Amino acid sequence: HAKQSGGNAVHFFEQSMNQSAFERLVLENELRDAVKKNQLTVFYQPKVRMNDGVIAGSEALVRWNHPTSGLLSPGHFIDAAEESGLIVEIGDWVMRAACEQAADWASHGLRLPVAVNVSAMQFERPGFADNVLEILEQTGLSPELLEIELTESTAMRDPQRVIDQIQPLRDRGVKFAIDDFGTGHSSLSYLTRMPFDVFKIDQSFVRSMSRDPHSRAVVDTILALARALKLKTVAEGVETSEQLAALREEGATLAQGYLFSKPVPADEFESYARASIADEISVASA
Ligand code: C2E
Ligand code: MG
Ligand code: MG
Ligand code: MG
Repeated sequence: HAKQSGGNAVHFFEQSMNQSAFERLVLENELRDAVKKNQLTVFYQPKVRMNDGVIAGSEALVRWNHPTSGLLSPGHFIDAAEESGLIVEIGDWVMRAACEQAADWASHGLRLPVAVNVSAMQFERPGFADNVLEILEQTGLSPELLEIELTESTAMRDPQRVIDQIQPLRDRGVKFAIDDFGTGHSSLSYLTRMPFDVFKIDQSFVRSMSRDPHSRAVVDTILALARALKLKTVAEGVETSEQLAALREEGATLAQGYLFSKPVPADEFESYARASIADEISVASA
């Protein structure tokens, strides 16, 4: 409406909208350009094996090289992206970039799975699965090296639709993880019947598990559930060696967190991963 009715409408908006709504509008317009102007980039955070610390994969996390504000984390723009629908375009861009990167690493001897976050709006769009299959084909990434992270709430919004949507991808070998597990309000019985491969334990539980028995109980329960269902587990937000020791004792499969590395640009991740794997080989052959 504002555009059609000209300058007065804009003036009206500036006066009547609260500051944050106006800022949101500016942000959305900038974000719309960000994709076209190639301002988005993907960082990678290692996931390490709990038992020996060797890098076993990564999570792709989007960043925005904002022309004046510098490097922005998703916390600054994901909500705006979701509300404006731009998340679909951004999500597709991240999926393609991460698959290209992982395929490139694999073709240079670094065969590691990459996990990509997919938001509800992107996932629920008809043609999502076909689009991912097309990206896999075009980038040459083996489907088993792609893991898709859905939050618990995305996964539980319409469970039958989720199953239908992920089946063609699972058939090719793509893995599925439930992100931020434990923070949603899902029915456990439903959730445990869904075809997922990995539970990612939300960092809020990991952070407080050493001082809060309730958090510790949640972590233990998720790990027990995963064991019973023969699923892998990733503990998110591992920052201290105490947390790592507790999680190892409880039998989590993988750990991800600042204790090992923050999300870093692709080339940094690559050197870190190559060093980690070289260490493992030299330890194994020593
Ligand atoms: P997430 O998928 O749960 O990703 C984990 C977040 O925790 C990342 O934040 C990561 O940097 C942060 N993190 C990892 N280890 C630690 C730690 O030890 N301590 C602390 N305090 N934080 C840690 P980031 O990169 O800011 O991303 C935030 C969220 O934005 C993600 O949460 C995900 O929900 C969303 N996101 C990121 N990239 C994408 C994307 O490409 N598409 C979509 N739809 N969402 C994305
Ligand atoms: Mg995630
Ligand atoms: Mg998470
Ligand atoms: Mg999160």
